[in-house]
Amino acid sequence: RAKSTGAGWAVYDERLDAPQLHRLSAIGELRAAIAGGQLEVHYQPLVTLADGGVRSVEALVRWRHPERGLVPPDQFVELAEQSRLIGPLTLAVLDAAVAQHAAWQAATGTAPRIAVNISLRCLDDPQSYAAIRQRLVDARDVLTVEVTESALAGDEARQALLDLAQQGVACSVDDFGTGYASLAYLRDLPVSELKIDRAFVRELHVRARDQAIVRSVVQMAHALDLHVVAEGVESSEIAAVLRGLGVSSAQGYYWSRPVEGALLLPWFAGAPSL
Ligand code: C2E
Ligand code: CA
Ligand code: CA
Ligand code: CA
Repeated sequence: RAKSTGAGWAVYDERLDAPQLHRLSAIGELRAAIAGGQLEVHYQPLVTLADGGVRSVEALVRWRHPERGLVPPDQFVELAEQSRLIGPLTLAVLDAAVAQHAAWQAATGTAPRIAVNISLRCLDDPQSYAAIRQRLVDARDVLTVEVTESALAGDEARQALLDLAQQGVACSVDDFGTGYASLAYLRDLPVSELKIDRAFVRELHVRARDQAIVRSVVQMAHALDLHVVAEGVESSEIAAVLRGLGVSSAQGYYWSRPVEGALLLPWFAGAPSL
């Protein structure tokens, strides 16, 4: 590092330790990957429990790394959030999703809506938000937004969500039940869907307490006119319990893992719920 002093430029040694160096090179590598088109978006269907039709799909980002193969988002989204790369990352995902929707539409004449995950950082940082807002508003007939409860708590983010709603962008609360958001936010915020976190779904068939939680979320959601989705369904048993509890849609490995867009085409052709 060089620092300006009265005498000109003096070089001083600010030693970086190994983890810091590793982090800096990881940020550089991720930046290059975003710019170089190494991000890929996979899609997982959300299924209507009554008839098994595809209601919508969720866009989930992956990094097609030249040496490490397909890297899951858990390994780089947080770094992106901490380093201001989440703006460019999200724009890349939005563009890919809009292009995928057009491709499905061209191939079958019909295509489901695509839900995209929007980090808190994209809402509470004015610079990131400005860019993302425009893309979302332009694509509001095609895309919906998923935010976690933490995004409902901050003032800037709440303002951004209200703004999106006024512009006609639909919003779901992701990982519902795991955050610390007060339920009062649900009353005041323009969200249209709750996605019950996998934590309450995973053992639903054997845990009466989880069933009680899901049952009361469904009741509350109906009273507030919100749609309910259950995440992380891995068996027909759990799907059946959810149906019994009045949950209308679900998502999980039982139907499909997140896959490349082209692989979902057979699902859409002739699916009754589209
Ligand atoms: P999420 O938004 O809660 O997404 C659901 C995660 O659960 C996905 O993991 C999905 O593959 C996984 N999943 C779906 N069904 C099942 C199931 O039946 N069993 C189990 N065990 N898991 C299931 P994935 O794709 O690894 O994404 C992890 C997280 O990374 C996401 O959690 C989301 O928070 C974040 N993420 C993914 N894509 C994006 C993105 O484009 N932008 C942002 N900001 N975050 C993203
Ligand atoms: Ca999500
Ligand atoms: Ca989730
Ligand atoms: Ca999650």
